[in-house]
Amino acid sequence: MAGDLSSCAGAQPARPAESNPSPGTAGSPAARSFDVVIVGAGAAGLFCAGIAGQRGLRVLVVDHAPRVAEKIRISGGGRCNFTNRETAPANFLSDNPAFCRSALARYTPADFIALLQRHRIGWHEKHKGQLFCDGSSVDVIAMLLRECEAGKVTRWQPAAVRSVRAAGHGYEIATDRGPVRSRNLVVATGGLSVPKIGASDWGYRLARQFDLSVISPRPALVPLVFDAGQWAAYAALSGLSLPVQISTQSGRGRASFVEDLLFTHRGLSGPAILQISSYWQAGEAIRIDLAPGTQLAEALCEAKTRSRRKLVNELGARHVPHRLAEAWLAPHADWADTPLAALRDRDLRQLGESMQQWHLVPTGTEGWHKAEVTAGGVDTRGLSSQSMECLRQPGLYFIGEVLDVTGWLGGYNFQWAWASAAACARALTC
Ligand SMILES: Cc1cc2nc3c(=O)[nH]c(=O)nc-3n(C[C@H](O)[C@H](O)[C@H](O)COP(=O)(O)OP(=O)(O)OC[C@H]3O[C@@H](n4cnc5c(N)ncnc54)[C@H](O)[C@@H]3O)c2cc1C
Repeated sequence: MAGDLSSCAGAQPARPAESNPSPGTAGSPAARSFDVVIVGAGAAGLFCAGIAGQRGLRVLVVDHAPRVAEKIRISGGGRCNFTNRETAPANFLSDNPAFCRSALARYTPADFIALLQRHRIGWHEKHKGQLFCDGSSVDVIAMLLRECEAGKVTRWQPAAVRSVRAAGHGYEIATDRGPVRSRNLVVATGGLSVPKIGASDWGYRLARQFDLSVISPRPALVPLVFDAGQWAAYAALSGLSLPVQISTQSGRGRASFVEDLLFTHRGLSGPAILQISSYWQAGEAIRIDLAPGTQLAEALCEAKTRSRRKLVNELGARHVPHRLAEAWLAPHADWADTPLAALRDRDLRQLGESMQQWHLVPTGTEGWHKAEVTAGGVDTRGLSSQSMECLRQPGLYFIGEVLDVTGWLGGYNFQWAWASAAACARALTC
């Protein structure tokens, strides 16, 4: 699988594979025994299971949802933006920013590309290092399941975990298919976004049970909304998209992106907004430059000397989409239809500045059902950055999005799922 994986000492290579027995088959009173139980059959859980299984560990994956890896299936518009070539720690938000370094350095985008190539899955780069499948995101899920089969991973699904108890050198786990004992427990239950496909707060609750802190989870990579009255002037622009520079200066630091902005009926979306939403805090303003790369005030004053156009036509022809120019000038109907040459420099400068320093304060986000990821999560200061193991609770691991490590838009979140899962799987012992 990941190429460099040593076998687990004491491995039992001749185990039979068990893919998905019917409910009740594991319900005998005697607990079944595994080296690793992984809760969550998403990107991180399945990836970790395949590697650990191929190292010779006896692995059980439990997921309460009827289908595996639903978020992979719906990701990247159905083509799964599975990594980003440019991945670096600076592309992640966390209260403990250095935590992600080690895992990202030891499992890189090139490693995942090599895995796809071994499975003959075609891919292409869109822009800014974002890599997508040529075919479908289902190809990635099928690949992860083949890797689990190669590792003789047992999978119970749908199956709920009722309770977890530390016992001796391991864990006793009550599932609705019966009790299980395991040396290691890996929590890969993801974040809270898109609750209808299986998201739950179980991972956070388990963390608290073992005295780990949880950084308050919040929707991220999510559209922003505005007060209906405030937004009425722009609602007619719904569907309009344009490149902008967007920035915010918040308690989480200063962030700035050049990406596309999309107007919606209730507010703003598109890659620019999704990116900034991860940094935005309630009550703070965002700033948008609607004509990045130009000095709009100077350009309009200079155009006075050579253009006979009306202001609205000059703006729409050279600087921003015409619909936006019309909406922006609606409160200044007298200016819009005035030839440029007849307008005062002072007014043109003011107009240019208003379009390049558009300050607005969102009232909120579209919430969990529209968020791509969860920011916040299990506080990484309680974990080893080498292995993802709890520092004070041996054998308990957290991987993927359940952790307080949140990537930018563009394949970074899957790269974190793969990298944290690989770090954990390589460290597990039987
Ligand atoms: C619409 C959308 C598009 C996205 N597109 C991209 C993209 O193109 N590129 C990118 O990098 N990222 C993308 N993401 C983010 C990415 O999907 C996640 O960051 C990634 O899936 C996280 O992996 P994970 O394994 O940690 O969690 P998940 O993949 O969410 O898996 C968690 C699993 O745990 C299970 N689970 C939860 N609670 C329990 C419980 N109590 N008991 C048992 N099982 C449980 C769930 O059913 C699920 O199967 C997208 C997300 C969304 C919502």
